[in-house]
Amino acid sequence: MFKVYCPRHGSDVLLGYGRVRQVINVRPGVIVVELRCYDGEIVRLLTGSRADTVAPVTEPVAG
Ligand SMILES: [Zn+2]
Repeated sequence: MFKVYCPRHGSDVLLGYGRVRQVINVRPGVIVVELRCYDGEIVRLLTGSRADTVAPVTEPVAG
């Protein structure tokens, strides 16, 4: 499960692996997991061992 903030819900939601749309390897140790919320909102979760070295993703990721 992923705990992500959904702006449409206005709160954190728990999304299962079946909600994953794609996983983007930004660079080694930095991964963006793109999920679709129950209400259709696309939310992105920045993760990976080096995720704390980059700013939180708020804009669509190219590619
Ligand atoms: Zn939502």
